[in-house]
Amino acid sequence: MTARITLLDEARIGLRSLIDRVEDIAAPTLRLGVTGLSRAGKTVFTTALVHALIRGGRLPVFDAANSGRITSAALKPQPDDAVPRFAYEDHLRQITVERVWPASTTRISELRLVITYAPPRGGERTLTLDLVDYPGEWLLDLPLLDMSFADFSRTSLALARDPARAAMASPFLSTLAATAASGPENETSARQLAATFTTYLAACRTERVAMSLLPPGRFLMPGDLEGSPALTFAPLDIPSGTTPRAGSLAAMMERRFEAYKSAVVRPFFRDHFARLDRQIVLVDALSALNAGPAALADLERALDSILAAFRLGRNSLVSALFRPRVERVLFAATKADHLHHTSHDRLEAILQRLVDRALTRAKAEGALFDVAALSAVRATREASVNRSGQLLPAIVGTPEAGQEVHGHVFDGQEEVGVFPGDLPQVPDSLFEPGGTGFRGLSAADGVDADFRFVRFRPPAGIGAGAPLPHIRLDRALQFLLGDRLA
Ligand code: GDP
Repeated sequence: MTARITLLDEARIGLRSLIDRVEDIAAPTLRLGVTGLSRAGKTVFTTALVHALIRGGRLPVFDAANSGRITSAALKPQPDDAVPRFAYEDHLRQITVERVWPASTTRISELRLVITYAPPRGGERTLTLDLVDYPGEWLLDLPLLDMSFADFSRTSLALARDPARAAMASPFLSTLAATAASGPENETSARQLAATFTTYLAACRTERVAMSLLPPGRFLMPGDLEGSPALTFAPLDIPSGTTPRAGSLAAMMERRFEAYKSAVVRPFFRDHFARLDRQIVLVDALSALNAGPAALADLERALDSILAAFRLGRNSLVSALFRPRVERVLFAATKADHLHHTSHDRLEAILQRLVDRALTRAKAEGALFDVAALSAVRATREASVNRSGQLLPAIVGTPEAGQEVHGHVFDGQEEVGVFPGDLPQVPDSLFEPGGTGFRGLSAADGVDADFRFVRFRPPAGIGAGAPLPHIRLDRALQFLLGDRLA
């Protein structure tokens, strides 16, 4: 077992945490992490959250805003000069003026917002909110700190050979079969293996397959490390408990795996993750439900890894001196506007069950956890659609130009009313070991199967300064910030 976090890192985290606490007393500050796998909705959520704080809107559950106690919220220069700024203004303009979704998160970014508010007991105060938006792929890397190259190889290959993934993994597995791990080190083989391994990871993440990601996260979200040796490795069939022979391909891969941990994973943990006070984890649970039981099982595995990340680095003497840093974690199922409101509670209940099970397994403690089904920017409205003389609850939106459903290609202007189908009540079979699982909604349920994957444009008729329509964004705000504005 390799050292998970070095003692020096522990000391740096401890010191940083102490400085942050002193600063927090002088000027109350909260670092809120926004994460989730690629396309879960981080960029849209962060933009909507900032906009709601600055512009307000219909936020009945968010007490500080609802009772008119937020005097102002203003953007200020962020504290970390080396981290890119979250392009809030550009994203907002795209959503409201251009009616297109902004470009997704591919790296970490930060934004500082200073909120002036009146506590219920009177007076005026400020809360500095530092938002840190980062790819969930990086979070799923944290458990690697506990793994040796042999551990990583064993778990990755077991999953690649799992029937649910085997087809997507087959080019990688054939390259692997044609490579001798104990043979001499060889850059061409390393690159071929890394490339086919990356293609396999990417295939698992396509919208219709919706498998949650396996590490290494930077293989899909490389940031500025693309092409570097630290990202040019792949799991190998090596017997556990043995040390690869010096000069062998296995030794080379092991070295790079260790470099990945020390140059990529550990600094992210130390400089960013360990400093968060609160965290929202966005989950595209709908895509997983639509894609079927294998995707859902995969989502559970991802939740396990996320929870493991919250426990990391807490079991040494140094870290024991400081209280657990992340105090609140909200798991949020995004894009609830793809469902009729009658199904929002069900989506929440399904996510709750997934999270509960993961919490039990992870024996997570110290932080407060909650779940919500939300839509940060609501792109649809509700209506009734006549289906063979029967009025059914439907959602209406504008599909993006080029979206094709049942042979009809949408032009980006035309609206469509779709019957999204009801999510099931939490079906036990979905969760029981050996159960039949949830097969996803399909035509057999009376659902327009193809509409499950339609991408709607952002809503029409919103001026740049007007509040954005949303679903339950106020609940998220209340859980994440409410107590600090009271
Ligand atoms: P990121 O990769 O986590 O930053 O994800 P984004 O925020 O870029 O969202 C990915 C895509 O999901 C967007 O381009 C939209 O198509 C869709 N999306 C995100 N949030 C919402 C939402 O609240 N409603 C709808 N209808 N679509 C959303």
